[in-house]
Amino acid sequence: MVLRQVAEGVLIHQSEFCQSNAVVVHGRAGVLLIDPGVLGHEMACLANDLSDSGQTVVAGFSTHPHWDHLLWHARLGSAPRYGTARCAATARVRLSEPGWNARIAGLLPPDIAGQVPLDLLGLITGLPAETARIPWDGPQVRIIEHQAHAPGHAALLIEEPGVLFAGDMLSDVLIPMLDLNDTADPIEDYLAALRLLEGVAGDVDVLVPGHGSIGGADQVRARIDQDRAYVHALRDAGVPGDLRVGPSATFGKDWLPGVHERQLQHLARRSERDGTPG
Ligand SMILES: [Zn+2]
Repeated sequence: MVLRQVAEGVLIHQSEFCQSNAVVVHGRAGVLLIDPGVLGHEMACLANDLSDSGQTVVAGFSTHPHWDHLLWHARLGSAPRYGTARCAATARVRLSEPGWNARIAGLLPPDIAGQVPLDLLGLITGLPAETARIPWDGPQVRIIEHQAHAPGHAALLIEEPGVLFAGDMLSDVLIPMLDLNDTADPIEDYLAALRLLEGVAGDVDVLVPGHGSIGGADQVRARIDQDRAYVHALRDAGVPGDLRVGPSATFGKDWLPGVHERQLQHLARRSERDGTPG
């Protein structure tokens, strides 16, 4: 059994890859599966666990158009897989580019490259813009769309029992990774997204990040504050006192500091080009 219950009717499965969390929500006729996972054998195992407990997947959802959130496994069945309109449109454009397969394969860390099934990658149905909730027969799942980490990124609030699945926001192991390609003001976009999540913090009992560990209600504001401090430090070209990229960090030691450096350099080039400080 790989599934772990984090709240009534809400279970997660954590991948060996980058502490990625897949979320299963029990509905009346089957389950909603959010960001299914990364490695083929893990998704197959998840499919087994679901069928052993008599469950089928009746809907899927991808929080954003990055490869590790767009995967699917044939054994999970052919339920509609949703995302925001911008998420689906972005995935569609990338998949229509010649050579996308090789390009994604090039993004995969070499140690897992052969284990990630790409044939069903990104086959997402976009929900109309401003759709408030995922259309399915189960607990209400509110879509909190924002521009910060990726185009059309959505956090999801399972309203009862108060579980926030934050996608690639509010991680305890990953620093904020800004969308530096698709946006005019990545810093302000990120801060606006944090304010949006802060607006629902009072409704959250359990926080599940796309990568990292589960937190309780107190973790929502703590992680928002931590991420905001990091983004402010990026904006001010300061050195963040952020433990996730500090000397005591245990996760991603060999690559996360590089992500931080590249974000700093990109923002410095951008402000030079725009002729604006910060
Ligand atoms: Zn991502």
